[in-house]
Amino acid sequence: MTARLIDGKAVAAELRRGIAARVSTLPFRPGLRVVRVGEDPASGVYVRNKDKAAQEVGFDSATLHLPQATTEAELLAVVGRLNGDPAVDGILVQLPLPAHIAADRVIAAVAPEKDVDGFHPLNAGLLAAGQPRLVPCTPKGVMHLLRASGAVLAGARAVVLGRSQIVGRPMAQLLLAADCTVTVAHSRTRDLAAECRRAEILVAAVGRPEMVRGDWIADGATVIDVGINRLADGRLVGDVAFEEASAHAEAITPVPGGVGPMTIACLLENTLEAAMARRG
Ligand code: NDP
Repeated sequence: MTARLIDGKAVAAELRRGIAARVSTLPFRPGLRVVRVGEDPASGVYVRNKDKAAQEVGFDSATLHLPQATTEAELLAVVGRLNGDPAVDGILVQLPLPAHIAADRVIAAVAPEKDVDGFHPLNAGLLAAGQPRLVPCTPKGVMHLLRASGAVLAGARAVVLGRSQIVGRPMAQLLLAADCTVTVAHSRTRDLAAECRRAEILVAAVGRPEMVRGDWIADGATVIDVGINRLADGRLVGDVAFEEASAHAEAITPVPGGVGPMTIACLLENTLEAAMARRG
């Protein structure tokens, strides 16, 4: 079997077109503010891409770039000002933050109705309670990809590799809400390969280059590779050994060009949802 490719670029482009079309009918421009602290180079690229994508769909978007020496109190004051600004619908504080700032306290300070990353404990709790409001962008993007791929979710055995707050846990909640039977595997799981082999839907989010081998994949499975890993030779690979896995899977996402483009598209979707909810 050679797996069908799930084209994240195409699905993301369609989502973005739909968002732009809806924004063009609104009497206001949804407002997004991305806050970046310090000079982490990868963050710089992410923030620029988010800002550009937001401008392209017609949002009122801006980046606030604060110096590395910004104190936690100063950052909290900026977040507080954005919380109170009626023109701002979505606030995103780019992670990682410098070590002297407690990310948890900053995330908890964002007004939950403007938390377009979906990381605020209230939004995480609502998702866990089965009442999703603003959902983390990457797992939300994975759900779009699964639906676009035609995967049957209800009743399917789904395995999520990884249990982080930003990917694994919310991913498991979303699959559960879609009526999958969900297993969450992690670094303490006894036999990862055996857990993966039972998956009809496998979502890998561990951050270990090509850890998931071809013989971990059940014939006919749908494989979503969230991992983004840069190898010493400069190549970008996922958490799944793509060629090997493609020999077993029915459908698979590439890296790059799979989940990556969906994350930004879902940030735009969350911002539009936040704007509609706030402004009626
Ligand atoms: P974290 O490091 O926060 O979490 C990794 C998870 O994988 C943990 O739950 C950890 O288990 C588990 N894990 C690590 N090593 C192993 C192992 N050897 N065997 C089994 N489980 C393991 O990472 P993130 O969730 O933030 O990100 C995961 C990957 O997804 C990364 O490659 C990241 O770059 C990528 N990513 C991609 C995005 C995109 O837009 N495409 C967005 C966000 C992330 P434990 O909890 O036990 O430590």
